[in-house]
Amino acid sequence: MFAEQAELQEYTEYVIDKYKLRERTRTGCNVQQVSWDEAVQRWSIRTEARGEFTARIVINASGPLSTPVIPNFKGRDSFRGATFHTNDWNHDVSLKGKRVAIIGSGASAAQAIPAIAPEVGQLHVFQRTPHWVLPRPDRKFPQWQRALLGIKPLHKLLRTMIYWELEARVIGFKYSPRMLKLVAQRAALRHIRTQIADPALREAVTPDYTIGCKRIILSNTLYPALCRDNVTLHTKNSAIAEITPTGIRTTDGQDLDLDVIVYSTGYDATDGVISYPVTGRGGRTLAAAWAEFPRAYLGTTAPGFPNFFVVTGPNTGIGHTSAIFVIEAQMNYIMKSIAALKKSGKRTVEVTAEAEADYTGMIHREMERTVWKSGGCHSWYQSKSGHVIAMFPGFSFTFRQMANRFRPEHHVMS
Ligand SMILES: Cc1cc2nc3c(=O)[nH]c(=O)nc-3n(C[C@H](O)[C@H](O)[C@H](O)COP(=O)(O)OP(=O)(O)OC[C@H]3O[C@@H](n4cnc5c(N)ncnc54)[C@H](O)[C@@H]3O)c2cc1C
Repeated sequence: MFAEQAELQEYTEYVIDKYKLRERTRTGCNVQQVSWDEAVQRWSIRTEARGEFTARIVINASGPLSTPVIPNFKGRDSFRGATFHTNDWNHDVSLKGKRVAIIGSGASAAQAIPAIAPEVGQLHVFQRTPHWVLPRPDRKFPQWQRALLGIKPLHKLLRTMIYWELEARVIGFKYSPRMLKLVAQRAALRHIRTQIADPALREAVTPDYTIGCKRIILSNTLYPALCRDNVTLHTKNSAIAEITPTGIRTTDGQDLDLDVIVYSTGYDATDGVISYPVTGRGGRTLAAAWAEFPRAYLGTTAPGFPNFFVVTGPNTGIGHTSAIFVIEAQMNYIMKSIAALKKSGKRTVEVTAEAEADYTGMIHREMERTVWKSGGCHSWYQSKSGHVIAMFPGFSFTFRQMANRFRPEHHVMS
């Protein structure tokens, strides 16, 4: 759709301006707390600068990846240069000719590194654990294909083929790790050999766990960027010992003078997936309910929290297709719950503890079979309890089928 990066950038700016996205996030409507008021059977929502208001129903759509994480490195706050997280990229900081460090080597770093490497003076990339990288199947659609895709049924056919091609990946993730290794891991190893000549760099970027255990990165530009003369990859042998006022001291004794440190250190997608406190029935908090690990029926509802729905909640993430597909399925469940509530004439709808426990039990039994549990890595998919919380252990259509019905027997209305 967007042949060139510039076209994509231009379109993004157009969307941001058209929908005033910049203003909205700066207008203080950050939700700071949500609490259930039993007396009036409503939620009270407190915001940063827009005061407090109440609502009968709350749908949390604060996103699975909107709580950035910045590790507490020794000396972190002593650095005198510019620092920012990839989630809050500071475009006012020019990187031209600068000495820059990127901390992290995941999906965001894989996009940022090739984008800034040609512009900066020197780039130091700090990789704690390498990620598997596969070629990105991007290509320009020639005019005749674009014309064909203007015919709705053909466009639908292409989308459907892409959907099923991506669904097939679940066979590797869950049912056949052997297939993962034979097909995907071999392709990734070939990608390393094709794009990197230096044997030491090849070894440094080759993971020691099964592909898919961590998010697979799709990139044709990351490895060439790592091969540039002005880019240095720091692995475990040259990790961050501390951050100093002038840069980074590494574990092998280097003192790197830097102008900018970019934290590409990810998000809290599990234990902190909801960034504000939620207090439900009887004053019980969601944090307490999720003390062991975050859990919810269809990743959406929790017992003790009536009329409260979480979009992209626990175990709704997928590693193989668009999150939108799952979000739409959740919205089906949410809208059907609200419709059932309306029809009942009651004031609250709430999942039962039994139904949630049965669902969560099923999720973690199924999870045992996945590469996310058996692939030999630690990832952001896991909560501090070790449970895989970010992912749904199966096909996206299975989740959609489950979320497509409101089951009165799994809920109480009052
Ligand atoms: C770099 C990156 C690349 C990704 N690429 C893909 C991809 O290719 N395919 C894919 O399927 N998924 C991708 N994802 C996952 C992506 O997060 C989801 O797919 C999608 O954005 C989820 O949509 P959402 O509306 O639920 O959340 P978001 O798009 O994250 O929107 C959440 C909104 O809630 C706001 N918010 C958060 N907290 C509060 C609060 N307390 N009060 C008020 N507002 C709040 C945020 O500012 C944000 O505007 C990517 C994520 C990242 C970070």
